[in-house]
Amino acid sequence: MKPSQQQQWPKWNQVDWPTTLFLTITPVVGLIGTGVAIGVEGFSWGMALFSLIFAALTNLSITAGYHRLFSHRSYDAHPVARWILVFIGTSAWQSSALKWCTDHRKHHAEVDTDEDPYSINRGFWYAHLGWMFFKPAEDFKIHCPDLEKDPLLRFQHNHYIKCAIAVGFLLPWLIGWMVGYPLTGLFMAGALRIGLTQQSTFFVNSLCHTFGKRTYSDQITARDSLFVAVLTHGEGYHNFHHKFQIDYRNGIRWWQWDPTKWTIETMKYLGLASKLRTVSPTEILKARLHMESITLTSRGYSQEKLEALKAKVLHAQVRMKKLKEDYAHLKVEYRRLKADYAKKTAEWQEHSRESIERMKTEITLAKLEFRYSLKQWKALVKSPVPVAIS
Ligand SMILES: [Zn+2]
Ligand SMILES: [Zn+2]
Repeated sequence: MKPSQQQQWPKWNQVDWPTTLFLTITPVVGLIGTGVAIGVEGFSWGMALFSLIFAALTNLSITAGYHRLFSHRSYDAHPVARWILVFIGTSAWQSSALKWCTDHRKHHAEVDTDEDPYSINRGFWYAHLGWMFFKPAEDFKIHCPDLEKDPLLRFQHNHYIKCAIAVGFLLPWLIGWMVGYPLTGLFMAGALRIGLTQQSTFFVNSLCHTFGKRTYSDQITARDSLFVAVLTHGEGYHNFHHKFQIDYRNGIRWWQWDPTKWTIETMKYLGLASKLRTVSPTEILKARLHMESITLTSRGYSQEKLEALKAKVLHAQVRMKKLKEDYAHLKVEYRRLKADYAKKTAEWQEHSRESIERMKTEITLAKLEFRYSLKQWKALVKSPVPVAIS
């Protein structure tokens, strides 16, 4: 389907009032409620820190869980990690993982068309928030065949509202109550955290399709921006993500701000994630060079010369990669030989030491035997009468 330029918002009778009110009122209630809670209970640094950590974990459970694990399957997660991501993800009030992934996969498959659930072509606010104000189309169905087999995700989907009330509001209230700050727990770590983390996710659909550079493709509205990456836990390198959605990273350089990537790498280190998928550096460079050559052509550079230089860069990259791999293999082999040599030397030293000890003992015995037999001989010489020889 061709990108649409003049897409219309749905009609008023299609408004999903409970969702609309929840999305708009929660941040306000969170903010006012937090003020009231502080007035009544006093300010607690402990509760503020707890709310902040809970907010960061909520965002990460959406970006590393709902998004990169469930929607894109960019890595495999241990059942314990899946459970934690679903548990905290439920507290975000961003619907079940199955609904979220159905919408998100459609967003990727139909990006910028009428079928894109949060198409930026319907306007910034529609992509940010507006699309959730309306009931899904009558023919909307959960469509994630691979995820629907997971009993954990099915359970979360079937009992979403009850679970979200429990984890999103009752849990922080309970934790606050246990330390003497129930209202702070409910409003700061509950409503305010939900309101703010929702906005962080919504920025991905609005800001990430509006601000930044189209580094890898100009066929999509998605853009790369460090500023947006900071607001969205690393999802701001969105042009890369749309072009190479299977890659578990969004910021591919080690220094690019992508806490979600660092979380997945830490999970791997802890044995909670495996099979982290990446796109080949050649494919990534090819796409970048293609985009940059469009800019250079517009500056008047000859297409032919640019193509030749592009081929040279790509060839050099492949050669460098191959040499790096060979070097890594050589290093492993060298370490193995070195270890082998050290082991053989140690064995030889041990063997030599044993031989030396054995020889020393043999020499001592021979010396004793010599002395004893010589003594015997001398006794024969000295004796005037014959004696028996033993
Ligand atoms: Zn995505
Ligand atoms: Zn997008």
